Amino acid sequence: MLSKDTIALVRDRTDLVAVVSESVPSLKRRGRRFLGLCPFHKEKTPSFNVNPDSGLYHCFGCKESGDVFTFLQRVDGYTFHEAVRALAERAGIPIEEERGPAGTLASSEADRHKKEREALYAAMQMAASWYEEQLRLKPQNEYALGELERRGLDPQSEAVQAFRLGYAPPGWDGLTSFLKRQGVSPAVAESVGLVVPRSGGGGYYDRFRHRLMFAIM
Ligand code: ZN
Repeated sequence: MLSKDTIALVRDRTDLVAVVSESVPSLKRRGRRFLGLCPFHKEKTPSFNVNPDSGLYHCFGCKESGDVFTFLQRVDGYTFHEAVRALAERAGIPIEEERGPAGTLASSEADRHKKEREALYAAMQMAASWYEEQLRLKPQNEYALGELERRGLDPQSEAVQAFRLGYAPPGWDGLTSFLKRQGVSPAVAESVGLVVPRSGGGGYYDRFRHRLMFAIM
């Protein structure tokens, strides 16, 4: 589906007189309007009016009337969608598709990519929070606190919090189980490198164990 904004923009940027002239070579200025031989019925005296101010055309002979979109539909046999697209291309306007049940392939593809990115990002966020939480848990955090001290880092410092420093505990499936409980699919967790499939098939395990974690995002 085309967005209303796009349709309005295309209508604004399109020169109705120029478009009509291509099919009505006889079109000539007559005051504020343009007059030519009607493309929709046979005539010898021009009765086809184009009004650039209103963006509408009207034939006094056969009563055909409309805007630039209906003109292309009638003259070239375009659908409304095709007429908007053709004119957008002509005016150099990128087409924005609105989400809808009749969405095009292109827009559903873009939607799918966006959803995938969001899922990956959400998985990373959840994992970072979990690692941060592990860093606060006693007594397992002893090793991590020792490591921080060795590197001269104060766990309460702003830098440590800004980098979302965390701790991956020694277990095999702490994060894997956590993500599973949060409804994150193992395939998503694997694609962001947080979990690894077990070699014997069936299940996953935590990639990072017994180490400090820096989540930079
Ligand atoms: Zn006519």
